[in-house]
Amino acid sequence: MEITRAVDCTTRRGNDAWFTGTVWQDPIVEAPDPARIRAVRVTFEPGSRTAWHTHPLGQTLHIVSGTGRVQTFGGGVREVHAGDTVWIPPGEKHWHGATPTQGMVHIALHEHLDGKHVDWMEPVSDDDFNAQPG
Ligand code: MN
Repeated sequence: MEITRAVDCTTRRGNDAWFTGTVWQDPIVEAPDPARIRAVRVTFEPGSRTAWHTHPLGQTLHIVSGTGRVQTFGGGVREVHAGDTVWIPPGEKHWHGATPTQGMVHIALHEHLDGKHVDWMEPVSDDDFNAQPG
C-alpha cells in the first residue's frame, strides 16, 4: 500500500482547444502500467463544458456537487446532479459540463489504451449547450 500523490497535483486550467469557458482539472491518479486507470476531478464554472469527444475504453462520471449537463451525439441533453453516476460507452461521442447558470464538479474515471484516453472533436455549440434538458 502507498499513500501517495501519484501525480502533479497542481490545478490546471482546461485547454481552450478542448473546453469552452473556465474549467479546472485536479488529477487524482495516473496509475503506472500495467494499470490503466486515470481519475481527475473537474470543476466546471457556469456555462463551461468540454468539446465533443470519445473515450477508447469508455468513461465513468461521478457528479460530486452542483448541477450539470451531459449529451451523447444524436440524443437529448440530460441534466445531472450531485450523487449521479454516468457511464459513457467506448467510442460514444458526447460532452459534459455545467449548466448555463450553475457550476458542476465531477470525478472522471477512464482507462487509457496505448496511452490515449480521449479523442477530441469540435466544440459544443451554444445552441446545443443551451437546449432544454429532456
Ligand atoms: Mn468524456
